[in-house]
Amino acid sequence: MTNEVKLNTDKMLEDLLAMCRKNLRTVDEKLITKAFNLSHEAHQNDIRISGKPYFTHPYEVAMFVAEEIPLDDISVVGALLHDVVEDTGISIKFLRTEFGDEVADIVDGVTKIGGVFAGHEITQAENYRKMLLSMVKDIRVILVKSADRLHNMRTLDHLRPDKQRRIAKETLELYAPFANRFGLGRVKWELEDLAFKFLNKEAYNEIARKIILKRNEREAYINIFKEPIAKKLKDHGLEFEIGGRPKHLYSIYRKMIKLNASFEEIYDLLAVRIILESNDDNECFYVLGVINQMYKPISERFKDYISIPKKNNYQSIHNTVIGPDGKVVEIQIRTRKMHEIAERGVAAHWKYKESLTSTDADLADWVNWIRDAFENASKNEATKEILASFKLNLYQDEIYVFTPNGDLKRLPRNSTPVDFAYEIHSNIGFHCIGAKVNGRIVPLDTRLNSGDQVEIITSKNQSPNKSWLRFVTTHKAKADIRKFLNRAEEKLVETGRELWIKKIKKLKLVFTSEDISKLSRKLKYDNPGQFYRDIALDKLNLDDVLSPEETKDEQAVPELEFDKFADQERKKIGNVIVDEEHKGIATSFAKCCNPIPGDPIIGFITIGEGIKIHKKDCKNLISMAQTHSDRLVPVEWPHANGSMFAAGINLSGEDVPGILKDISNSITTYKNTNIKAVNINAVDSIFEGTVTVYVNDIEHLNRLMERLKNLKSVYHVERFEHNKQ
Ligand code: MN
Repeated sequence: MTNEVKLNTDKMLEDLLAMCRKNLRTVDEKLITKAFNLSHEAHQNDIRISGKPYFTHPYEVAMFVAEEIPLDDISVVGALLHDVVEDTGISIKFLRTEFGDEVADIVDGVTKIGGVFAGHEITQAENYRKMLLSMVKDIRVILVKSADRLHNMRTLDHLRPDKQRRIAKETLELYAPFANRFGLGRVKWELEDLAFKFLNKEAYNEIARKIILKRNEREAYINIFKEPIAKKLKDHGLEFEIGGRPKHLYSIYRKMIKLNASFEEIYDLLAVRIILESNDDNECFYVLGVINQMYKPISERFKDYISIPKKNNYQSIHNTVIGPDGKVVEIQIRTRKMHEIAERGVAAHWKYKESLTSTDADLADWVNWIRDAFENASKNEATKEILASFKLNLYQDEIYVFTPNGDLKRLPRNSTPVDFAYEIHSNIGFHCIGAKVNGRIVPLDTRLNSGDQVEIITSKNQSPNKSWLRFVTTHKAKADIRKFLNRAEEKLVETGRELWIKKIKKLKLVFTSEDISKLSRKLKYDNPGQFYRDIALDKLNLDDVLSPEETKDEQAVPELEFDKFADQERKKIGNVIVDEEHKGIATSFAKCCNPIPGDPIIGFITIGEGIKIHKKDCKNLISMAQTHSDRLVPVEWPHANGSMFAAGINLSGEDVPGILKDISNSITTYKNTNIKAVNINAVDSIFEGTVTVYVNDIEHLNRLMERLKNLKSVYHVERFEHNKQ
């Protein structure tokens, strides 16, 4: 190439090795040199869109890994080689023999991520799935990929605007939250600010301009603010660094949007950071005490992330005080080590030669969860849903709550007891039926707050409810509930299908799958699955479906029949008589006890509906009368038809020959009682039915019932009445 910039590769390699020696515990210089040379040679004929030799890209990525997120030499080698498989003819197999499995796997992971996105629709669930899976296989894939993305974002200017937007959006939605989750604070901030720049240039430039305008004023104030603190801390012999904390453009922008505030309102919140050169966490609290003596603290804003670190291991004290001139100043207090972890996340742990801490175990859990969720999600549909909640969760703030034993659980903001239950164990979630928060029983959709102590009440018989999906927050709860519901649904469909097959076998019918589709459509189902489901739920009567022309079973429905009967008898006898004082007020019959002529009755004055007539022994009436006895009104049935009224008697017994005759004899031979109607059905050897008779009064009716009870084959006798109070 004629326009090729001549690279000083000797110096480049020496710089890289020097950086590795400075930041890494062990450096395989031979391996790094070998990777450097291979990468340089492989990319020799490629140039970037910027016009620079392509090799500058993997080199810068490797340099960033060695300098900013140093983990080990393998990561640096991986960074140098991360594009050789995708862009040149070199195979993973070759890398495996030349550089070993670790390097080959890292390059393979990073390559897969790149391949997934090259020119494709980035929001496709399947692509995310692949990416997440390769990312979580080896944490170093994340380091290299983050550094790769950062360098690409830094050099994004040279791309077409539509490509810029696509890559920026993806960076903001996925890479930045990912970097944050792995504790790569500095990478996260820069990715966000760069993405913001390409997605909303106007807002970005406006904020950047205003920051420059305010810089001097701001620095002057911070100097005034920090001076007495610095002096005091020095007097106490502490070694520390204190200074204004840079505010990131995107975070200012986001706060402006979220709080609907102006730039000034957000930016005037001044931020100071104190980093202690000490290994003693307690010194942070000591410094806090010094500051709070000097400036008045706003205690509601105090946060102690030292005692309770964030999920990504972040530790610091956040304190807010009122500074000179009444300005609000936020102060972060942390040790150097905490600061390293805040900026470099997982990479910092290696530097401090740490073994796994509890929060690293959290990270391992989280990584396992991703692997689980995405590897098992076979259907594209389900993956989409998991991803939606997953992406949401990446952004959310955390709350921390406690188990009854005092164990800490971190959850996204807006989590509920159901989220908490699933966080402890899927089985607790599945069977959770209630919850106590700080000792009090609360509804399952209650939003939890930091500091809450949560106890879950479970029941063997409980199972997840569809409505839970409306309020749960964590991806774990959502995925588990959905999984359960899908399984339950499948089971229902299966049961329904079995019932259906049994039925048509019995009736010797033949249905093709075409016929079944037709039938389900005719019955207004979207698919046969829903048809089977309703069969299983007993919502669909197969006899009706299979023989629609067959006349409906005309068995009496007592509830409805009785209403009709009562209505008819009341009409026949005429209006109830109300006492003089309340004459003229409209009357109607209470639905709760539905009195019929002959029942002892009483009126109750309602608000707006006149007088309701109840049976004297109506439970509703008795309870209302306890507080409103003044509203009771004496009423009685009109004395027409020689005081005869119709009453129904339900009876059942053994269906022996002549039973109907025995029953009617028993009735008519007593006081010449007239039978109005008889409706008796026999099934197998049992009969049951209703006899309607004309009686003078309740006494008369009771006697008849006694007589019926005395019949040998009659087992049960009761008044046909509306007694479901
Ligand atoms: Mn790259």
